[in-house]
Amino acid sequence: MIELSTHDTTWFLVLTGLIVGLTLGSFTTMLTYRLPRRQSIVSPPSSCPHCNMRLKVRDLVPVFSWLFAGGKCRYCHTPIGARYLLIELAVALSVMAAFWGLGFSLLLIPALLTILFVIAYLTILIEKK
Ligand SMILES: [Zn+2]
Repeated sequence: MIELSTHDTTWFLVLTGLIVGLTLGSFTTMLTYRLPRRQSIVSPPSSCPHCNMRLKVRDLVPVFSWLFAGGKCRYCHTPIGARYLLIELAVALSVMAAFWGLGFSLLLIPALLTILFVIAYLTILIEKK
């Protein structure tokens, strides 16, 4: 049986937190765009608001898709706000911190929901002005 040292466990927690955080970050950008516009958060699938091109899996990788496309839509080259990058990073870093601080515990679930809610709410408040 392989014993994990505390050091290994910490890296595993932070890496898991990064993956979960980037996924939740992407979900949060969708919420902050659609909720103020009273659009469904279930459907339709994500598309470019300018050219309406439906986004493919490679366009939806949090942080990396934005960076590789140079902050522009891959189809119509309309600039995509840095808000997407900033929200995804803010959620990812917060979720990583939660994983690191709480470990795999039941407290993690309300912590993740709080992070998602607070960042989505603040973004909507800031962009409302
Ligand atoms: Zn486009």
